[in-house]
Amino acid sequence: MNFKSLIQLLDYFKEESTCIEYYENIRWGGEPVCPHCGSEHPYVTNRGYKCRDKDCHKKFTVKVGTIFESSKIPLRTWFAAIYLATTGKKGISSVQLGEQLNLTQKTAWFVLHRIREMLKDKAPRMLGEKNMVEADEAYIGGREKNKHHGKKRSSDNLSVTNDGQPYKNKKAVVGLIERDGKVVLKYVPQTDANNMVAFINNHVPKDGTVYTDESRLYKRLNKTYTHKTVKHALNIYVDGDVHTNTIENFWSVLKRGLYGIYHQVSDKHISRYLDEFSGRYNTRHLSQQDRFERFLIDSESVLKYDVLTAYV
Ligand SMILES: [Zn+2]
Repeated sequence: MNFKSLIQLLDYFKEESTCIEYYENIRWGGEPVCPHCGSEHPYVTNRGYKCRDKDCHKKFTVKVGTIFESSKIPLRTWFAAIYLATTGKKGISSVQLGEQLNLTQKTAWFVLHRIREMLKDKAPRMLGEKNMVEADEAYIGGREKNKHHGKKRSSDNLSVTNDGQPYKNKKAVVGLIERDGKVVLKYVPQTDANNMVAFINNHVPKDGTVYTDESRLYKRLNKTYTHKTVKHALNIYVDGDVHTNTIENFWSVLKRGLYGIYHQVSDKHISRYLDEFSGRYNTRHLSQQDRFERFLIDSESVLKYDVLTAYV
């Protein structure tokens, strides 16, 4: 198998049995394991497997315990959905995915949220061991006409836009990005120095070098890190290696995706969208197929519909 396009993927995965065999190999490496009790060497049945453990004896297929659990959609369609959702920088809306794969919008919405669950970084590593790290915050949503310069003056006044209006319905996201490396994002209900510093401490080892703008949110970083700031207020955006252009570029992709593709993202789901954007970004150097397989390795994560739709 070697695919570089959706048509090649669909050609290869024509039969459901091919999809199952392929996925069993990715998940179990050919040695099925009972998802209920962890026991090995199950019986083969005509619909999947049955556990040999005398206290378990449960039936299962390779889909149990994964994002595909209890789904009636063929794996072929799921694989196409994963391909479409992870190709390109900005994502795909549930309306568009539904049209392309002949699913209802509601089903496509659920499929996309399960895919986001899969894209979540399950084993985040520390940043900045080899690369320089930029830290910044972005405000998502709110009134369009205030988006422009609101960010620029964040050091002076976090809770108001540049024309003095409070940020309404804006969601704050903090981000850390390695130059030529990976990004880590977090939705924070409130941007204050404690939140920012705690987030950075969790992801960047002490003695690292962190680049930020001059915002007072980052003032305390020089106690732990080599902290270099760029003076956006003086219209200085690059000073030698001191800049935050990598994260600024990432924000622009994130915002174009969130505004252009998804239009509105609720507080409840925003973290999943952040998982989606960082998952795609962090695998951007992989080939389409390597990226697809890399994501499937992380697919052992069930997100139930009632959990997804529950009021939190
Ligand atoms: Zn079992």
